[in-house]
Amino acid sequence: MSRVYNFSAGPAVLPEEVLNIAANELTEYKTTGQSVMEMSHRSKEYGAIISECEGLLREVMSIPDNYKVLFLQGGASSQFAMIPLNLMNKSKKADFVITGQWAKKAYQEAQRYGECKVIASSADKTFSYIPQLDETSFTKDADYFHICMNNTIYGSRFVDLPETGSVPLVADMSSCILSEPYDVSKFGIIYAGAQKNMGPAGLTVVIIREDLIGNAQDITPTMFNYKTHAENDSMYNTPPTYGIYILKLVLEWVKNKGGLEAMKAINEKKAAILYDFLDSSKMFNATVFGKDRSLMNVPFVTGNEELDSKFVTQAKAAGFINLKGHRSVGGMRASIYNAMPVEGVEKLVEFMKTFEANN
Ligand SMILES: *Cc1c(COP(=O)(O)O)cnc(C)c1O
Repeated sequence: MSRVYNFSAGPAVLPEEVLNIAANELTEYKTTGQSVMEMSHRSKEYGAIISECEGLLREVMSIPDNYKVLFLQGGASSQFAMIPLNLMNKSKKADFVITGQWAKKAYQEAQRYGECKVIASSADKTFSYIPQLDETSFTKDADYFHICMNNTIYGSRFVDLPETGSVPLVADMSSCILSEPYDVSKFGIIYAGAQKNMGPAGLTVVIIREDLIGNAQDITPTMFNYKTHAENDSMYNTPPTYGIYILKLVLEWVKNKGGLEAMKAINEKKAAILYDFLDSSKMFNATVFGKDRSLMNVPFVTGNEELDSKFVTQAKAAGFINLKGHRSVGGMRASIYNAMPVEGVEKLVEFMKTFEANN
C-alpha cells in the first residue's frame, strides 16, 4: 500500500496510526463480536466509547466543568442556524466579523432570526487578512458575537480575540480545533465540523457554556435545540456513532503525541517550512501576510493560471494530492492539519523547488 500526501481542506488526512487501529477493529471491536458501526448506541460498550471520547476532549482541550460537549450531526453549516435559534433570545441582535465565506454564511443565516451587524470585513482584499476591530462599534446588548477563528478557504486566522465583555463570543473552529491550545473559557460556544482536524465527516462538535442552553426561540425545531442534546448526553436520537469512535482514536493519538502544546509546536514548524519557502520563492507567493497567516491552510499562487494548473497536475502525479486552491481564490492551497507529517511538508517544498527550477 502506498499512501499519498493529502493536502485536502476537508474531508482531510487522518493519522495513519488511527486508521490502522480502526482497520484492526473494523469487524470486531475488542471482544464484542461486532463492529462499532453495528453497535446499538444505547449499549454498554458504545456508552464507554462516547464517554471516553468526551473525557479525552475535555482533558486535551482543558474544557471547564461549566461547559457541555455535544456530539451532533448536520455539519458546521447547521450551526449557522442553530446558534441564532438558541442564542438570539434577548435583544435578538448579534455581531459578525466577515473574514471569509464561512463567516459570511454564518451571518446570512443568522439574519433569518434576528438583527445582524457586520463589525468589519476583509472582503475588499479577497479576505487575505483579519480586519482591525473597533470595540466602540460592538453592539453592547448583542446576544452573541460571531467569528470564524480560522478561514479555511483564504488561509487567515484570528490571533487576538475580540474583547466582547459579557457578550458571548461564538467561534467556528472547524479548521483549527485541536491545532493549538485555546482558552475555552473565553468563548460562549466553540463549534466544528469534524472532517478537517478531528475525524470523518458527519460529526459536529459543539462546546457550549451551560448558561447559554435552555432559552431557544419558540420556533426552534426540537433537533436544533441545544437543550435537547445537552439533557440527553447527545443521545436524544442516534448520534454519529462511528465518527465519535474515530474522534476518540484521534484524541488518544493527540494525547500520546503530547497534547495541544505539542500539536502547536509541530504545526508552527510545518507552517514555517512552507511560508519560509513561499517568501523566498520567485515563482510562488503566499496570499496572506503577517501574524494573520493560518497554521492549517496555506493558499499560494504563481500569478499564472496555466502554471498553477501545470503545478497541480504534476504534484498529483508525484503523490501530493488536493493542492488545487478554492475556486474563489484560484492557485493552490496546502491544508496541513495535525495529521500531515512534517515530512509531507518538507517533501512538498522539495517538489516546489524542483518545479520552480524547471519552469
Ligand atoms: C468546512 C467548514 C465549514 C462547513 O462545514 P460543514 O461541516 O461542511 O457544514 C464551516 N466553517 C468552516 C471554518 C469550515 O472550514
